[in-house]
Amino acid sequence: MDEWRRWATPKERLRWVQALVTEKPRHPFTFLWRHLSWAGVATRRKLLGLKLKRDEPLRFRLIKGIVGEQYPRGGFRSSLGWTGLRLLQLAELDAPPDHPAIVKALQWLKGRQDPEGCFLELPSVPTSYPAVWGEEVRFSPIAIGVTAFALCGLLRWERESYWVQRAVQWVARQVLQRREICCLPCAVHALHALAISRLDSATVQAAMERLVSWLSDHQSEQGEWFANPEASYAVLFALGVCPSPAARSQISKALPMLAGLQFLDGGWGRSYRAEKTWVVTSALLFHELLETFVALTDRCPWLGRPIEWLEQMPPSLDESPTAP
Ligand SMILES: [Zn+2]
Repeated sequence: MDEWRRWATPKERLRWVQALVTEKPRHPFTFLWRHLSWAGVATRRKLLGLKLKRDEPLRFRLIKGIVGEQYPRGGFRSSLGWTGLRLLQLAELDAPPDHPAIVKALQWLKGRQDPEGCFLELPSVPTSYPAVWGEEVRFSPIAIGVTAFALCGLLRWERESYWVQRAVQWVARQVLQRREICCLPCAVHALHALAISRLDSATVQAAMERLVSWLSDHQSEQGEWFANPEASYAVLFALGVCPSPAARSQISKALPMLAGLQFLDGGWGRSYRAEKTWVVTSALLFHELLETFVALTDRCPWLGRPIEWLEQMPPSLDESPTAP
């Protein structure tokens, strides 16, 4: 078990983190500890379990900013994907479930469900969305990914509802019935949604297994997926919520590669750094691999990127291939 979880009270946990951020400049928590994004707030509140007074004005401002973008009917940009993303961020910011904007967004999504259980964008709405880690992902209008993407946010609020579970079952059936898994964005959003649905139906379990083993088929001996270290954020978004030993062992194998990809300030990526760092850190915590990772970077400090690199790198390095 990771060390910080053993601390019983928030006060002791706070002291532990405060010592950590002074002693370990490269720890992912050091990077996220003062970050003013939703991912920073989510790290402090949800990963560290610290409801800090200093975060409250920021948290309300971030929630207000998101809610201010909502269209009168309840969607965001009239898009299923954008609405799903905003619901995910509002959940990670711990917005209250009875917030009128959330109630309205959920109603809007419910009204957009197809009789089959899936969600289809209107023909006039583009099916390309910003992923949680910043990269733009594009789906074909009938892709599994459109429904799965919306579910990643929706499930954080409505996991128990029958209509949401129908959408989950639709995704699981599609994963099993299609001859091939079409692309990385569909796979990772489907796996994230299926995992957080916690439905233990045989279909959902089998679909998750197929997706995990598909990702494993695309992992090299060095630990990277799809021959591209930058694909890690997408893959970890999925494996990082997936409670299977097969998911954990892929992440274990990737630790040296992840260390080589991390900047010496504790963060990952050039743009959307807090979001990427949140994805990686959440995955490591979920699988209780954070301590192992930090021990590795202590032992092998040469694995890691000097922070000056950030200025030299083209932003395109943040983009992983849309299709393998
Ligand atoms: Zn696809």
